[in-house]
Amino acid sequence: MDNKVLGIHHITAIAGYAKRNYDFYTKVLGLRFIKKTVNFDDPKTYHFYFGDEVGSPGTILTFFPWEGIPRGKQGSGMATEIGYSVPDKSLEFWTRRFNEYYVRVNDAGTRFNEEYISFEDPDGLPLTLIVPKTPDNRQGWETDEVKANVATKGFHSITLTLANVKETARVLTDIFDYKFYGQEGQRYRYITTAVDNGSIVDLVEDPAQKRTGNGGGTIHHVAFRVKNEEVLMAFRKKVLASGLNITDKIDRNYFFSLYFREPGGVLFELATDNPGFSIDEPVSELGMSLKLPAQYESARKQIEAVLPSLA
Ligand code: ZN
Repeated sequence: MDNKVLGIHHITAIAGYAKRNYDFYTKVLGLRFIKKTVNFDDPKTYHFYFGDEVGSPGTILTFFPWEGIPRGKQGSGMATEIGYSVPDKSLEFWTRRFNEYYVRVNDAGTRFNEEYISFEDPDGLPLTLIVPKTPDNRQGWETDEVKANVATKGFHSITLTLANVKETARVLTDIFDYKFYGQEGQRYRYITTAVDNGSIVDLVEDPAQKRTGNGGGTIHHVAFRVKNEEVLMAFRKKVLASGLNITDKIDRNYFFSLYFREPGGVLFELATDNPGFSIDEPVSELGMSLKLPAQYESARKQIEAVLPSLA
């Protein structure tokens, strides 16, 4: 399995206000805030990471909060829904909790025989909580209000909306070694057997959807997981051999990355397990202080002065 794509590594989205985003994900959803850093390409803005206790690949949701950025529209050629795995019988808890926090449940039902509820974050980002049919033994992060018996366990799936699923499906099957699992309506499910969880990509074919740009509440890219840099570079060759463009290896401090746009329009990333989130602070202190990459450390004072308060 070491040379394979190991499901989802992380998902990165755009938020309108840092504090509102921080409050929703840490308090309402009860995720652990695992890293507070800056956008390496725009160090006057944050880059937030949420996940499980240690920031395991497959649990990592990251945001670029840009204060006051206009809301985007979900459309074609983008990832349009994040699926979280939750424990059996926890949906009642979540429905009640969302009522208390004025989060509207948009939809509830079953997909591929799995129960789910759908809602949006404060920026309009679509999220779904799903009770998986197959056991999910991952340990959710526990807070005062969200205990382990109801806590999210990490990603279940990512949904991409596409004008036509064919070429994207080919990337999943021919390069990433995913297999077609089944179809429900216009939803085509692909799954990898390389990992037990975070292994699903749903492709929704909807030619009526327009291509839209990124804005608040939209997903910027989906990162797939590989074990290390050696595997990463092997996939770089595979992507190039398929005729697609791909970046050089990029050091993201907590993982190494490659980016390429799949033919359906969605930005894909490949990201390594190493070195992980405890490279610059101990696990017990993850997310507690602002972490800057070496190139910005000398500008710390100026950066801290312009970043919005989370208090
Ligand atoms: Zn990324």
